[in-house]
Amino acid sequence: MGPLLQVEGLKKWFSINDSKLFRGEKHFVKAVDFIDFSIEKGETLSLVGESGCGKSTTGRAVLRLIEGTEGKVVLDGVNLYSLKSNELKKLRKDMQIVFQDPYASLNPRLKVRQIIEEPMTIHTNLTKKERTEKVKQIMTDVGLNIMYLDRYPHQFSGGQRQRIGIARALAVEPKLIIMDEPVSALDVSVQAQVLNLIQDLQEKYGLTYLFITHNLSVVKHISDRVAVMYLGKIVEIGNKASFFETPLHPYSQALISAIPETNRTLKRERILLKGDIPSPVDPPEGCRFNTRCPFVMDICKILEPPLTLLKEDHYAACHLYTEGIGDIGKL
Ligand code: SF4
Ligand code: MG
Repeated sequence: MGPLLQVEGLKKWFSINDSKLFRGEKHFVKAVDFIDFSIEKGETLSLVGESGCGKSTTGRAVLRLIEGTEGKVVLDGVNLYSLKSNELKKLRKDMQIVFQDPYASLNPRLKVRQIIEEPMTIHTNLTKKERTEKVKQIMTDVGLNIMYLDRYPHQFSGGQRQRIGIARALAVEPKLIIMDEPVSALDVSVQAQVLNLIQDLQEKYGLTYLFITHNLSVVKHISDRVAVMYLGKIVEIGNKASFFETPLHPYSQALISAIPETNRTLKRERILLKGDIPSPVDPPEGCRFNTRCPFVMDICKILEPPLTLLKEDHYAACHLYTEGIGDIGKL
């Protein structure tokens, strides 16, 4: 049996037609630019990077909530990109998404019971009575009191609303849930509770997560493996322990050095990157990180480094280890 999710050569370019800016030429925002990754059943892969790097676009293109420009997304043996929209609709129940903003993502006019029941009405043949039973059970599972069945979203706190969002995703027993920054909009004091809930539910329901976040402390808490994105590319992917102990890509090293706790325990110097992230319309030639990398070499400006296996279950795309001074033996 292969992985539950396999993404191959996924690309999402958005075309922009600004004739003033580009004199009528067609230009593209290369939001996601040929990425590959897979997720095993029951695993959490975190997709991390700064805002605008293509994480959320990746999540949506994986589920075909937006159409990828090219590529293959195989969920449990079925290539979602080979399906017609009616066939895709039947598989919708297998893949759900939880959004960042629990305020905007819940319909304010529906009661909690309706919000959680809705996906079951669309995707299952359960009777009304069965659906109501299931709503109650899931509310209990996510830590919501079933006395609140008939309340509206505005009557709940942010943390409780995100529990409702998670309950709605769980209602159809999906194989894969994409968590798109599920705790970033919450108070720090409730973030840990919701993260723990997400982990408990994974165990209970055998769920598989693609967990999108910009927060490396959250990544540390939740992941089995970590993938780092920069300007539409995955630059590093590996198991969590190896990633945090020996981050290979200079960009990952900078991100990790910025976590306060890591600085204290490992006494790592904070690596400050120069400049801003370049535009995804016109990314740098060669390695996309070359305009900000402290170790940039001539080759980095010409040749794009491929994602290469450098340690067990740990890949990075950087010329340092193949062309330069990096010593794989010392990793
Ligand atoms: Fe830096 Fe070159 Fe590695 Fe890119 S390929 S991260 S520019 S050393
Ligand atoms: Mg996002």
